[in-house]
Amino acid sequence: MHAVTYEHIKTCRQSGARLGHVHTPHGTFETPMFMPVGTLATVKTMSPDELKEMNAQIILSNTYHLWLRPGEDIIEEAGGLHKFMNWDRPILTDSGGFQVFSLSDLRSITEEGVHFRNHLSGEKLFLTPEKSMQIQNALGPDIMMAFDECPPYPAEHSYMKASVERTSRWAERCLEAHSRKGDQGLFGIVQGGEHPDLRRQSAEDLVSLDFPGYAIGGLSVGEPKDVMNQVLEETMPFIPEDKPRYLMGVGSADSLIDGSIRGIDMFDCVLPTRIARNGTLMTSTGRLVVRNAKFARDFRPLDENCSCSVCRNYSRAYIRHLIKSNEMLGLRLCSYHNLHFLLQLMEDVRQAIREDRLLDFREAFFESYGFNRPDAKNF
Ligand SMILES: [Zn+2]
Repeated sequence: MHAVTYEHIKTCRQSGARLGHVHTPHGTFETPMFMPVGTLATVKTMSPDELKEMNAQIILSNTYHLWLRPGEDIIEEAGGLHKFMNWDRPILTDSGGFQVFSLSDLRSITEEGVHFRNHLSGEKLFLTPEKSMQIQNALGPDIMMAFDECPPYPAEHSYMKASVERTSRWAERCLEAHSRKGDQGLFGIVQGGEHPDLRRQSAEDLVSLDFPGYAIGGLSVGEPKDVMNQVLEETMPFIPEDKPRYLMGVGSADSLIDGSIRGIDMFDCVLPTRIARNGTLMTSTGRLVVRNAKFARDFRPLDENCSCSVCRNYSRAYIRHLIKSNEMLGLRLCSYHNLHFLLQLMEDVRQAIREDRLLDFREAFFESYGFNRPDAKNF
């Protein structure tokens, strides 16, 4: 029995989306689900109590960042990540791979692992599948991710094929090195870029290793939305239906809905908190940049259809003033609303699946949000 299991509740008869529960050692979360990102063991500016108030059921944290600061040994000594940050619900950590490939310079990839320089101090470091497992075993999340190669986009077929094969060998080494199989579930990551044969090969390699869950990596890296949807359609038939399926790094409202329709159960992205910090809000009628002068005397809430405590208590004019004045409360209020917006969106998606009407919901949401307009922004 794996430490993390998927329970299927129902399939939407209109869209094919799945409603389910993922059971973990720190409790159960509903799917499809959005996971707020707490890079450095904190979802920026939000306390765990606030995250619970908005019904966050699982959060994500970053292995690479915690390895460098404060170091996994300190977190292990604290009793693990849950205790260290006072979050008693499920946690997922990534493998560190994505950050090594995107943040650091001077990296060189060998069969053994990746040599790179610490982006803070310049110190030379070496990350391997075994090292990533050792760090994640020390951090103690419910769900850990296999250490994979994250190739650039776009990548040639020949490069991608070698990369996919290395990722499969690394996945095997991760399973071998994972020392807490009884209380931490390790997910494999399907790569392969836009090449359907390589996505299939990657999925089949990983499925033969019997992971408790599977992620789709290498998307949301600059490709057009229709490419992402096509890759999902070509890949999902090779991912077992009795395991959770996680689309990594995707957090725009349209992609959460379109991913759910293609059978994805879990999503994460820094987008809602990152754009919040410069005063950009996701609302039911589209993007709102609260810094803009036109909101100086606008005493309506950020989103008139939102039930969050920010929208119940504060006006656009006040939040604009806070953001323009670099007041910390402004960042907090915008982050709170954006996270609440995506968590509520996923609750609405789950309700639509329960009632077999997710395609109708999609149409109404896209119309209201403005995704159907030619000038629509990607969030
Ligand atoms: Zn709100």
